[in-house]
Amino acid sequence: MEVKSIAILGGGESGVGTAILAKKEGFKIFVSDKGKIKDKYKEVLKHHEIEWEEYTHSEERILTASVVMKSPGIPDNAPLVLKLKGKGIPVISEIEFASEFTSAEVIGITGSNGKTTTTKFVHHILKSGNISAGMAGNVGDSFAKQVAENEFDWYVLELSSFQLDGILNFRPKIAVLTNITADHLDRYEYSLDNYIESKFRITKNQTESDFFIYDADDENIIKWLDKNQIKAQKLPFSLEKKFENGAFLENDEIIVKINNTQFNMPTTDLSLQGKHNTKNAMAAATVAQLLRIRKQTIRESMENFQGVEHRLEKVLKINNVMYINDSKATNINATFYALESMETETVWIVGGVDKGNVYSDLLPLVNEKVKAIICLGVDNAKIMAAFGNCVDTIVETQSMDEAVKIAYKIAEKNESVLLSPACASFDLFENYEDRGRQFKEAVRNL
Ligand code: ADP
Repeated sequence: MEVKSIAILGGGESGVGTAILAKKEGFKIFVSDKGKIKDKYKEVLKHHEIEWEEYTHSEERILTASVVMKSPGIPDNAPLVLKLKGKGIPVISEIEFASEFTSAEVIGITGSNGKTTTTKFVHHILKSGNISAGMAGNVGDSFAKQVAENEFDWYVLELSSFQLDGILNFRPKIAVLTNITADHLDRYEYSLDNYIESKFRITKNQTESDFFIYDADDENIIKWLDKNQIKAQKLPFSLEKKFENGAFLENDEIIVKINNTQFNMPTTDLSLQGKHNTKNAMAAATVAQLLRIRKQTIRESMENFQGVEHRLEKVLKINNVMYINDSKATNINATFYALESMETETVWIVGGVDKGNVYSDLLPLVNEKVKAIICLGVDNAKIMAAFGNCVDTIVETQSMDEAVKIAYKIAEKNESVLLSPACASFDLFENYEDRGRQFKEAVRNL
């Protein structure tokens, strides 16, 4: 039998996971990373006797592979990727590769915001319902590694548009699209339409027996669905509309109706508050109902789901001021929902590396809820210009410690301090986790 060969571009979690699975499946493997491969991954590669290189791509070896797995971080227009495509060598994502080697059913979750929260939410409910389910995506072990080492009946996968760009036959039984707002446009020739197409690739191989769960309040999603056909059965969710089949609100209850079965739950019983989380809960409850998990179990898991670190995470109450860490809010839409969910006057810490933000969308909420703004970035000019006239106090700082100390001075009893930057973190921090941790540390030191 001919030995199949795979070249793997990128020696991170998805690359090394793919290598482990490819080894198990009898492929000849070469892992190549243009940067440094982390020591912990080198150990794994050595242990599995897999060949690798770092700081370079040996093109002659890569261009002879029968298939290439590209890590999501490498853009489609990288010269080597273009060469591969020119030679007709398939360039796929880890999700595509791994899904070929498992008969488990997949719940794929994508969207601009809410992927991680909804993925963890769904996994939490499935586990409570005693369903054997693995979870992969941004957290923990890669999908490929889990396929190699576990035997789950279901997988809950968080899928970025980059993962979806690299699929050929990947077919989730249940696909969830949380929303689409402009993000990562630098990878899509600055075209929102290209980015929308990429998100909808999640439905491309679905059949009539599959399901597509989506936000029916999202204009980009609705417009695309008006113009395009999909085969999967559609299950919308909405805070405004009602459906025969889908999830909606009635008398402050979430209702999920699917083929004459109905699930109800008061929104006040949800552990995660805020409109965006009600939507995430609707999506998760729809998945759970499709899997026929007991209604009481769904209700209980929605009451006790603890949320995810750095996403509207309540840190501490000091002098009756609540400190909230929403460091993961790296775009306007996420911050919009954070501000919307605030029920008290708010001291807002914002700023960082802006990916082309239009701040005017936030003006009504800032006028209504924000009493002071603390800018935390190297360049705060845009924020100062956008909001300088709507709040009495707007200050600039370049350290988390200082930002939190100033917030502490300004905030009064029954108010809140919210870190929701609407920007990436790379100017002053390693990443959004580092930013969130520094915030929590500074709050604990007050
Ligand atoms: P992702 O994995 O898509 O980045 P996360 O669940 O990590 O999404 O959340 C990212 C940010 O978006 C957080 O600030 C969070 O509070 C906010 N968020 C969560 N769900 C939604 C949603 N459905 N719509 C808009 N923003 C959301």
